[in-house]
Amino acid sequence: MILLVRDEASLRAWRERLLRQGASVHRALDLRGSVLALRIDGAPPGLAALASADDSIVGVLEEEPEAKLARASLGTPVRFTLGDVTFGEGLVVAAGPCAVEDEPTLDRIAASLAASGVRVLRGGAWKPRTSPYAFRGLGLPGLELMGRVARRHGLLVVTEVLSPADVGRAAEVADVLQIGARSMQCYPLLDAVGRAGRPVLLKRHPGATYEEWLLAAEHVLAAGEKRVILCERGVRTFTPGRRSTLDLGAIPWAREATGLPVGVDPSHAAGCSRWVPTYARAAVAAGADLLLIEVHEDAARSRSDAAQALDLETFAALHEELQALALTPLRDGGRP
Ligand code: PEP
Ligand code: MN
Repeated sequence: MILLVRDEASLRAWRERLLRQGASVHRALDLRGSVLALRIDGAPPGLAALASADDSIVGVLEEEPEAKLARASLGTPVRFTLGDVTFGEGLVVAAGPCAVEDEPTLDRIAASLAASGVRVLRGGAWKPRTSPYAFRGLGLPGLELMGRVARRHGLLVVTEVLSPADVGRAAEVADVLQIGARSMQCYPLLDAVGRAGRPVLLKRHPGATYEEWLLAAEHVLAAGEKRVILCERGVRTFTPGRRSTLDLGAIPWAREATGLPVGVDPSHAAGCSRWVPTYARAAVAAGADLLLIEVHEDAARSRSDAAQALDLETFAALHEELQALALTPLRDGGRP
């Protein structure tokens, strides 16, 4: 049974009361977006009637099967470690070019990032492009060269996989498999990455509700991979000339609803390098566990998303600032 509760104080009171009565109580996924929810297993007899008559309860639901994600992780923040990087505890910054272009360029970018203290290299070998005539990435050779560069600099790799057919090879090279915003509801791909034995970074589609995003994550979890990072990257905007609107509210919501690490991609959200630092600071203050930032040694010559790439110096300064910000009490979320 799920109780939809009016406010946080009532939620705590109901939780205590039901625990005393021997029920098992979890905070549940709030599918309506405006109320808090408690899931109860072993509800005492008569609870539905009692709760329906109480002012602090706004609804009583029978169990919704799609809300399993919350049960799997709520109350226990999900953390995992790859090499010496822990996701879900402190701030992790993954940086690199939008697309893998060639080995010498990626090598120079990676060297600079590693010198700044970055531990995770981002870069796309298979690029989802709105226009079929734009640069669509180097494919498999790009993945392989990225693996070589990352190993040389002691970096982890996060890279997007677009097709279920490429998941196996991508999982051999990448430490984290990225599902791009456009692929968020490509269910065969979610199943394939969920079985690949690698953590998954799941971008939110710009038009997806929180519920659709979390249920996409549920596909990965249901396929077997519990190490999922949810990543907000800007939603469809109403503002002419803007690429998207960064939904900062998604950060506390996703963390509270799931316990999974939550990432933010300020680069795709801003679409313009000038604003990337502002979006990144805001995301860290709001409690983001991970940032995904596009960086290029010659931003203007970047073969994709040139307008939003930070140059190496700007990124290095920002990275230092973000590391400091992540340690201040200004940061929200209780995950120092
Ligand atoms: C990316 O991070 O490389 C990317 C294509 O982003 P998104 O899927 O958010 O557009
Ligand atoms: Mn990009």
